[in-house]
This record gives sequence, C-alpha cells and structure tokens, in this order.
Amino acid sequence: MKLSPRHEKLLARTFLDYRATSDFVDLPLVVERAEGLYYWDVEGKRYFDAIGGIFVAVLGHGHPRVVEAVRRQLGQLTLAPPLHGIATITLDFIERLGEVAPAGLNFAKPFSGGSESVEAALKFARQYFRQSDHPHKHKFVSLYRGYHGGTFGAMAASGTGKRTAKFEPLPGGFLKVMPPLAYRDRFGDWEACNRFCAQLFEDVIVHEDPDTVAGVILEPISNTGGISTPTDDYFRLIREICDRHQVLLIFDEIITGFARTGGMFAAQAIGVTPDLICSGKGLSSGVVPLGAMIARGDMAAAFVGRADSDRHFAHGHTYSGNPLAAAAGLAVIDEIVEQRLVERARVLGEYLAAKLEGLKRLGCIREVRGRGLLRGVELVEDPVTGRPFPPERKLGNALRRAAIERGIILRIDPDWFAVAPAVIATEAQIDELCALVEQCLIDALEQVANRP
Ligand code: PLP
Repeated sequence: MKLSPRHEKLLARTFLDYRATSDFVDLPLVVERAEGLYYWDVEGKRYFDAIGGIFVAVLGHGHPRVVEAVRRQLGQLTLAPPLHGIATITLDFIERLGEVAPAGLNFAKPFSGGSESVEAALKFARQYFRQSDHPHKHKFVSLYRGYHGGTFGAMAASGTGKRTAKFEPLPGGFLKVMPPLAYRDRFGDWEACNRFCAQLFEDVIVHEDPDTVAGVILEPISNTGGISTPTDDYFRLIREICDRHQVLLIFDEIITGFARTGGMFAAQAIGVTPDLICSGKGLSSGVVPLGAMIARGDMAAAFVGRADSDRHFAHGHTYSGNPLAAAAGLAVIDEIVEQRLVERARVLGEYLAAKLEGLKRLGCIREVRGRGLLRGVELVEDPVTGRPFPPERKLGNALRRAAIERGIILRIDPDWFAVAPAVIATEAQIDELCALVEQCLIDALEQVANRP
C-alpha cells in the first residue's frame, strides 16, 4: 500500500513499537478494519493475520461474544474506584481465572497488559519473601534472548541485549543463563542439551547464595528466542531446582496462555506447575487491554495482616481490574472452555506443524519448533549443516517485504519466522496460511538469490 501524505506527516508525530519510522515508511501498513483472521488496510487490501496481531487475538479479531460482553458492560459500569471498591464483574473474572489456571493458582490480580503483570509478579515475589522467613531473597534468574516487557523490571528480566542496553543502568539483582537453543549443536540430542541447560539455573542459584534468590522467570516458549521450545523435562528439572532452593518459579505465559499451546496455559500442556503466572495478550483476544498476575493461593497469606501492619501488596494501577477488561476476559475464558478450543489448538496445531514441515522441500528450513498453534520456522542457507544465511542475504529480511506484498502478517526475524493463527481457524484457513507462506518464501529466496 501507499501512505497518504497526511498519514506520512502524522507518522512523524509518533513511533511504532521497536521499529524505525523510516523502515515502516518503506513498507507501510495502515489498517482500518479486522474480523476473524483478517485485517484490511486503508486501501481495502486484505491480509491474513497469521499471528493474531502479535500473539493476541486467540479467538480472532472482534469475536462477537467478547465484543458483546464488553458492550453489555459499557452500559453498566466502566470503572470502579480502585482505592475504595472492586467491580462485581472483576470478582467474577478472578474466580473464573482461578478455575482454569493450574491447580492451586487461584489468586489473581488483573492489569492492563503483559509488562504490568510481569512487573507485579517481580514485586509480589520480593515482598512475599520480605514478609516470610527469607527476607534476603530478592534476585531473579532468567534467560538470555527472553523478553518480558518494556517496563524497567521486565526489561531487567529480559535478555534481549541491544534492545535493553540503551536504557542501562537497569534495576539490579537480575541474572541470566543461556537457553537450550544456544547450545544444541554441542549435544547429540535435545534431552542432553536441555538437562545441561536446566542445571545452569542451579549453578547460578547456588553460587549467588540461594538465600538471596527469589525467583526464576521464563517463558515456556520464547518468541524473541526464536520460538525456542525446551523439552518438558527442562521445566520439570527447573521446578525441582526451584523447590530445592525455595526459589519461586514464574512462568511468563503472556504469549503461551489461553489455549494457544494446547493447554489453557502452557504449564498444563507441559505438566509443570509454577508458583506464579504472568498473562496478557490472548486473555482479552485483543478486544481491550488486559493482563493478570496469577499466584499460588497460599502465597497471599504473607500479605495478610492488620491494616496498620503494612503487609498488604504495595502495588496497583488505576486500570487494574477494569470492568470492561474483566468482561472481555470472562467471555474469552468461557468461549475457550465451552467450545473446547484447547483441544482444537492441540489438533489443529499438529496439522499446522505437519504442513510447515512440508515446506522443508524449499531447502531453506532447518527446524519447525513450537507447540499447539504457536510455531516457529528456522531459516538457514544449508539445512544439512545448519549454516545460517550470511548477514547481507538474510532470508527473513527478504521475507518481510514478500509477506506484506502477498498479504500475510507474520512475526519475522532475520533467521526465523513465527505463526500463531487464532484457535478458531479452520483447516482450510491453515491451508491458506501455509500456501501464502510458501509463496512468500519462494519470493524471498528469489530476492536473496539475486543479491550480489
Ligand atoms: N512477555 C512476553 C513473553 C511478551 O511477548 C510480551 C509482549 O510482547 C510481554 C511480556 C509484554 O507484554 P505487553 O506488551 O502487553 O506489555
């Protein structure tokens, strides 16, 4: 599409997320409408949304049940006074979240997005230990290449290198280890690699002094890590390590939650229960901003005391527990449960994975990773040796233009791309997605072949 002079002028007055305006102006997309798995731009061109915005619209865009729930709530109550009261719909939402969360995680505080949920979990963990038998536990261990959000605590927990280095110094007490994907070529199989990498957490915890370590925070499947998908065993081992050293296990399920990975939460699909979950994105399917920190119910006891004891959770946001957002979240959860969309994501996810595996015939794919309807495809110049494309001919860079021109929204990195279609997709839509991806890859391969 072409930018209108007015839109081009207005773009100089704002920024896109994590993207240079000059790059956007070169490959613009101004959208006007969305429905289900499709966007339409201002010129009326249709785009297949293969990632639900950015891993958000799990039920597709503008799901009628969610939109209707918000519309109903609009006519009733749109804001409770945060310091004085709570909305009935917010309490209903908290109850429902506890019903679908992993066993024992029935304490929840809703927020307006993922970063707020992460920030809250970090503060909750520190205050929890401050008010229990381990007042010195305050450090967090997380993964290089992981992403937990754009606010300062979430940035400190993230391992995204250059993206966060610009804002240093970040808050102290955040340590990192490498994820399994970084070491895979040193091991004969994934299991051995994952076992080694799980042990890295224990090495750090022990050498830091377990009495100073509050939590391990990680994504069950990491987007910025390249849809890095450790084995279930990796998480079981980390759970054991956390238990051994009384360290809280925090899952950032902002992408993986709400049916996406073939469990209501990835924790359930993996079979490992964390102490805290940070959620966001799919929780409202993109209808209104919403996130939630979910915690083990018994942890809340550390925050109970007389009003003057100062034990209450010293945290809040004006829009936490917003009634409109709660109405959306309730509707999303009810729809997922009633329509059995967790099972659907599992089955359709296998179908999607098989079709993506089939694209290996193009000779530029090393691995298809992920779980359920969250899949990543690693792009390489030589699939036999695993040799990546050189910097000047990265296939992902060429794929970005091809995707926008062909009309498909993907999450694209120079060396991989990801798809995460809505869990309401039909098999025919998965076919459509994969056919578009194939065409785009052929275009991109042609582009890089023609580069000097
Ligand atoms: N954690 C993960 C894994 C994410 O992917 C994101 C956002 O992309 C966040 C946290 C931050 O969420 P938000 O952008 O809603 O603040």
